[in-house]
Amino acid sequence: MLNNKIIGHDFQKKILMRAERENIVSHSYLFSGPDGIGKKLIALEFAKLLNCKNKDLSKTTGSDNESCECGSCKKVEKGIHPDVVHVQYEGVKSIKVEQVREGIEDMLFLKSYEGKFKVVIVDEAERMSRGAQNAFLKTLEEPPPYSVIILITSNPDSLLPTIRSRCQMIKFGALREELIFEELKKRDDLSVEEALVCSKLSNGSLGRALMLDSDIIEWRKELIQYLMHLKPYSALRILGLAESMPLSSNPEDTEKLNLAFEFISLWLRDLMLIKMDSDKKGLTNIDLIEQSMEIAEKWNIDNILNKMSCVQNTWSDIYHMNANKQLSFENLFIRIAS
Ligand SMILES: [Zn+2]
Repeated sequence: MLNNKIIGHDFQKKILMRAERENIVSHSYLFSGPDGIGKKLIALEFAKLLNCKNKDLSKTTGSDNESCECGSCKKVEKGIHPDVVHVQYEGVKSIKVEQVREGIEDMLFLKSYEGKFKVVIVDEAERMSRGAQNAFLKTLEEPPPYSVIILITSNPDSLLPTIRSRCQMIKFGALREELIFEELKKRDDLSVEEALVCSKLSNGSLGRALMLDSDIIEWRKELIQYLMHLKPYSALRILGLAESMPLSSNPEDTEKLNLAFEFISLWLRDLMLIKMDSDKKGLTNIDLIEQSMEIAEKWNIDNILNKMSCVQNTWSDIYHMNANKQLSFENLFIRIAS
């Protein structure tokens, strides 16, 4: 059994479990789908399952590998199994031919030490350079016996078609909001309301949801509330708000700035949905429904659409035209207040 604590993806888990059970394990898989939804975890659990020493026991008892105490499963979990390699090239823009040879091929062609299968998991496979992909293709064409290669990517189109066609493709979709909400409710640092907002902001990615802490959720609320009460003539408030935005170019601020654009856009989208009498369930900022309804009363649809395109243009000016961030936000906030 695959660890059933990994949320969602039941269909994909079944395909993999069936392959193992019926001895039809493919030499190469391509796991594709958005980031942060559990592809890596499932690849590691599959590697555990393939080499588990208690497999027959877990089949009869129905228990999953997460609780398996066998030496093999424990080693995969700790990342020290000699036959299971999880290749991650952190901080490397592009994976080069030599890295593929040293990290992947050399390992695959060695006889397995203790497992039945040699498993190589390549994270962010789309970062393999064209040369590296071509070199890798040869391994995919003539894989050593009992080897399983799992390529993981959020962007399968950036892999050569010849690579894609040699792998069994397993597509993973975004997780349902409710599943993420259930998971987030277990966290101590979020209230139920914050967990709900967070699940709505997650775009179906648990990884992303876990990155959004209560400080960020609260900052979103304050930012939107501030925008709700902004007046076009209150220059000081507009300047102050623009100044308070994460304007530096360090990675933390860059990440937060992206979120700011997303938060503002999603709030304007909420206003549109309220205008169109849509189901309240579709709203993101459910902790601001009443206040948003009051604002939606005052603004017409054209006005909201205008503001939405201002947000889009400001984002584009900053990211593509390298515009002055402070000035860009001042302009944006004046437009939102108007
Ligand atoms: Zn085991």
